[in-house]
Amino acid sequence: MVQMPETISKTKYEVVIGLEVHAQLKTKTKIFCSCPINFGADPNTNVCPVCLGMPGVLPVLNKQVVAYAIKTGLSLNCGIAKHCKFDRKQYFYPDLPKNFQISQYDQPICKNGFLEVNNKKIGIERIHMEEDAGKLVHAGSDRLHGSDYSLVDYNRTGTPLLEIVSKPDLRSADEAREYAQALRSILRYIDVCDGNLEEGSMRCDVNVSLRPEGSQTYGTRCEVKNVNSFRSLIRAVQTEIERQTEILDSGGKVIQETRLFDESSGKTISMRSKEEAHDYRYFPEPDLVPLEIDAKSEIIEELLTQGIDPEEIINQKGLAQITDTGELEKIVKDILDNNPEQVKQLKEGKEKVRGFLVGQVMKKTSGKASPQIVNQLISKLLN
Ligand code: ADP
Ligand code: MG
Ligand code: ZN
Repeated sequence: MVQMPETISKTKYEVVIGLEVHAQLKTKTKIFCSCPINFGADPNTNVCPVCLGMPGVLPVLNKQVVAYAIKTGLSLNCGIAKHCKFDRKQYFYPDLPKNFQISQYDQPICKNGFLEVNNKKIGIERIHMEEDAGKLVHAGSDRLHGSDYSLVDYNRTGTPLLEIVSKPDLRSADEAREYAQALRSILRYIDVCDGNLEEGSMRCDVNVSLRPEGSQTYGTRCEVKNVNSFRSLIRAVQTEIERQTEILDSGGKVIQETRLFDESSGKTISMRSKEEAHDYRYFPEPDLVPLEIDAKSEIIEELLTQGIDPEEIINQKGLAQITDTGELEKIVKDILDNNPEQVKQLKEGKEKVRGFLVGQVMKKTSGKASPQIVNQLISKLLN
């Protein structure tokens, strides 16, 4: 019997990807209490009765979170809801002692936007606000499972998050990475999130499905969690493509489930069968009043419809982008001269430091340089 090589599939499949990105907001305090947010603080030092879910406490919404959500929504071409509310999402959360998460279910603050990646519009389904859970630290050592017991650090509990959900518009691992990178740049640029994947301030859940090329309906998706670098994002999509291709080729069915990306093996592992929305028993959060957003984040719209030239306002306020490459080149050269160590690293192929250098130029120009031109100038000056 002749064995077919495993990687050659009989049917050609198209991959369909949608990303759910959790972005931790750069507020000074938590979303429903005044505890400080401070990465790396001693465990359980930034906590209070509210974020510890003690009986009788009441949440108070942090205004800055709403402002950041609106800013993000506008940057991603979303509509901003005039009216929205918070909901309780019930679950067994060992790191969220209330055992429900305050989130937004059917009335998110922002809806229907898009982000352009390589001249292609990737739809943004919705953006909602929610609180983060704490951190479980798996400790001790167990021969079979790796740890005997877990410790909980509630410092992160109640940290404000935006969940930014894309439409299933992405068609390759690279496209998904480019979308995530573009999203990260925007969040950093508008200064609402530091976008640090390693520290978990930007987290990606990747939904992947396959369908026969030409098919109009989507296949069953799997959601991969624990993707904490752009490299892992690519590898997670690639492994899912291989895994699902094998299942479909052998006549099997992909089961909708949540899988975990394992950094060391590069494989995805089944974590749990997928919950459905009704499993969470969502209901409106009775301790918070619904939000009414006044029609100001519309003055801009009015300005435009009344025919005032926006360029005039931009010039008046000195908000114009610097596009004079001569002027920019001087600044970029200055930054490169002052950061020889980073320049050396970049030349050695450490692409990460490029972001740092671009950031320095943005800082120097108060954000008025075009990041694209700055990038080109860095490449030009290094060669
Ligand atoms: P859930 O909470 O059940 O994961 P969400 O609406 O938060 O649901 O997220 C669903 C994500 O899955 C979105 O990013 C969406 O684009 C994506 N998605 C939906 N259907 C598919 C599919 N068939 N293939 C790949 N991704 C999908
Ligand atoms: Mg999901
Ligand atoms: Zn607190």
